[in-house]
Amino acid sequence: MIQKIGVVGAGQMGAGIAQVAAMNGLSVIMNDIENAFLDRGMKSIEKSLSSLLRKDRISEDEKKAALGRIQTTIEISAMENADFVVEAVIENEALKLDIFKQLDEICTPGCILASNTSSIPITRIAAATKRPPEVIGMHFMNPVPIMKLVEIIRGLATSEETFETTKDLAVRLKKVPVAANDFPGFISNRILLPMINEAIFALYEGVGTAEAIDSVMKLGMNHPMGPLALADLIGLDTCLSILEVLHNGFGDSKYRPCPLLKKYVDAGYLGRKTGRGFHIY
Ligand code: NAD
Repeated sequence: MIQKIGVVGAGQMGAGIAQVAAMNGLSVIMNDIENAFLDRGMKSIEKSLSSLLRKDRISEDEKKAALGRIQTTIEISAMENADFVVEAVIENEALKLDIFKQLDEICTPGCILASNTSSIPITRIAAATKRPPEVIGMHFMNPVPIMKLVEIIRGLATSEETFETTKDLAVRLKKVPVAANDFPGFISNRILLPMINEAIFALYEGVGTAEAIDSVMKLGMNHPMGPLALADLIGLDTCLSILEVLHNGFGDSKYRPCPLLKKYVDAGYLGRKTGRGFHIY
């Protein structure tokens, strides 16, 4: 039975994963490269728990207990004590391969190494380790404390035992696991990102304003959020990385990232996390 979960990367996804694990009784060790990033992650967890408390979804004691279960560290070597590790660093393949190589050396044999990647092939990440059967994709949705889905992606060599353990863990975290195979973008981003990219092209070509495009999809298609606002929530850098994986992975021009998206990323307009994307925050 998994008792202690390691989370590598304390950004919006890593902090969310740490929070749901702690809320469901697991001890958590969360790692990032700087204390300032760990502090920012802990602040966002505290804020999210306070909001759940205000809505009577948790008690003051549950909030305290969840916070008390999370330890933070800038030493990735602390993952040696984890029974299961979820990696949630930025969407950069070279970095993820390097981290999995390190985790493979640090973690106990049998410890499952999961990636929250949005699009990087799990089979390739697994091949950076000496334990491909114990490597899997565990793709949470943003914001993690709210969204029910966890897409679970088997790499070519992922064992059935690893798949079952990961699925059980998702259920313990009160999520709904859905299986996907290892193709670029898996299920979720294979479908979502072309829609977001098309919305950016519509803006680029002047079909409508950002507000108009988002309103059409909200009011006309009953989407809870417009595609441009959703891109801002995901992070425009992450959107661009996913589209590049789709474009390179399929070699099909239909996935080419819109030049406007590239320009925004170059400008540092990354969405909500920098206060400006297609909308201003
Ligand atoms: P983010 O930019 O908010 O956080 C990334 C964190 O990783 C940062 O805190 C950064 O300091 C840290 N980091 C960078 N290098 C590191 C290293 N060597 N060791 C430890 N930490 C390091 O990004 P995010 O939105 O949380 O995305 C993280 C992952 O989750 C990506 O793979 C992304 O594709 C995936 N994802 C994102 C979303 C989303 O909506 N944003 C949804 C599902 C999956």
